[in-house]
Amino acid sequence: MASRKMETNWEEVFSRPLLERERCLLTELIQALHDKEINTNMEDRLIWIHDTAGNFSVKHLSSLLVQTNADCVEFKFDRLWKIKVPPKVRYFIWLVSIDRIPSKEFLIKRGVVISEELRGCPWCGLGIEFSFHLLFACRFAASFWQVIFS
Ligand SMILES: [Zn+2]
Repeated sequence: MASRKMETNWEEVFSRPLLERERCLLTELIQALHDKEINTNMEDRLIWIHDTAGNFSVKHLSSLLVQTNADCVEFKFDRLWKIKVPPKVRYFIWLVSIDRIPSKEFLIKRGVVISEELRGCPWCGLGIEFSFHLLFACRFAASFWQVIFS
């Protein structure tokens, strides 16, 4: 069978810029497909490679995500869902863990236009606003955590 490999600029395939985690997963996928050949004699069908019958299940996916040796997934999701806090707090922690807090950096990556002078942290004005800065690195956040834990 002749090789049908083509060079693809994957960043152009997606409608928005990829997050670092998504870029990591895409790289893994490309590496996994690197030496695969397309068999045009078989009809396409979707399969879940982690199931012997090829069937996808959320339960199985969840168990895969909580495995400690999973690449690109370092957060302990199984612990998150057991924390005894209001669901909205759990949801917020989950958003932080997958870097989905709608910070200015996050919005800019998704194509939202924010002028240069409005990109800084609203509390300290330093640098571009991104989730780690807002929650931990900002002087305001540091003073907040100091009050909470003192
Ligand atoms: Zn700040």
